[in-house]
Amino acid sequence: MKKVTLNDGNKIPLVGFGTYKCKEQDGIESVKSAISKGYRLIDTAAIYENEEAVGKGIKASGILRDEIFITTKLWRENLGYESTKKELEKSLKRLDLDYIDLYLIHWPANAKNYDNWQKINADSWRAMEELQAEGKIKSIGVSNFFKEHLEALFETANVIPAINQIEFHPGYWQQELTAYCKLKNIVVESWSPLARGKVFGNEVLTEIAKKHRKSVAQVCLRWIIQHNVIIIPKSTSPKRIEENIHLFDFELNPTEMELINRFPKMGFSGELPNIWPDKI
Ligand code: NDP
Repeated sequence: MKKVTLNDGNKIPLVGFGTYKCKEQDGIESVKSAISKGYRLIDTAAIYENEEAVGKGIKASGILRDEIFITTKLWRENLGYESTKKELEKSLKRLDLDYIDLYLIHWPANAKNYDNWQKINADSWRAMEELQAEGKIKSIGVSNFFKEHLEALFETANVIPAINQIEFHPGYWQQELTAYCKLKNIVVESWSPLARGKVFGNEVLTEIAKKHRKSVAQVCLRWIIQHNVIIIPKSTSPKRIEENIHLFDFELNPTEMELINRFPKMGFSGELPNIWPDKI
């Protein structure tokens, strides 16, 4: 599996496995299945309520812990210095691990919901920097941070986030934010790379898929990795889990890339970090 080097020197697989809504037995089985098909990056979060299942799936896979890159996330209701430290311990316990490869602030505190949003994010970040120095987390990053949230964080941060995990798929790929992250040496990771299936009916994607004898899902995923963005598609079907990692025997040409780049807005979740938890 191709890997991407983060700004702290750690390496993360380019293709990983998402686990949102994979709970209990489904979570165990899908993680086991993903690892058996070659995935070495597993993405979970405290709010998914599946860290225990993910931990069990990883153990059941028989693959050594060190060969698997595990991401989990701090939920936005638990931001703050003390709380971040407590939450990390809880995640470690649920996953039954000694360390996390990547810990993310799941959503920033924002101006709409908090008077002192900059301080809340900064305090959480300081706790994460300390946890990283202690070796409990290898890499630290953020998720759903707009430029304004990153700029505020830079005011006090000693460590630049290694990753910003954001919504990124055909029809909504946050081009300016992505360019800004790259400029700051922050790797972009795509959530909902398949737009949860909402772009599958698109005729252009269907045509391109036919031409390459691939599925529309594979075209979406290939388009993202050709932007050097990490993907973590989720599936509970062993067949689709396998399909989503077989992306390296074809390539989209520049015309195809550009066609997809220019899609009008579609498949957007409606979740905006500057107003969340409200939706537009
Ligand atoms: P995805 O874009 O990965 O889409 C998942 C959906 O697509 C499921 O319904 C799945 O169904 C279906 N699917 C998967 N593969 C195929 C395929 N090859 N053909 C047809 N249908 C397919 O959505 P997610 O929202 O789950 O995003 C991926 C991951 O990103 C999450 O699981 C989570 O880990 C992370 N995430 C992070 C967020 C954040 O705020 N940081 C927000 C949202 C997600 P089936 O299971 O039946 O195959």
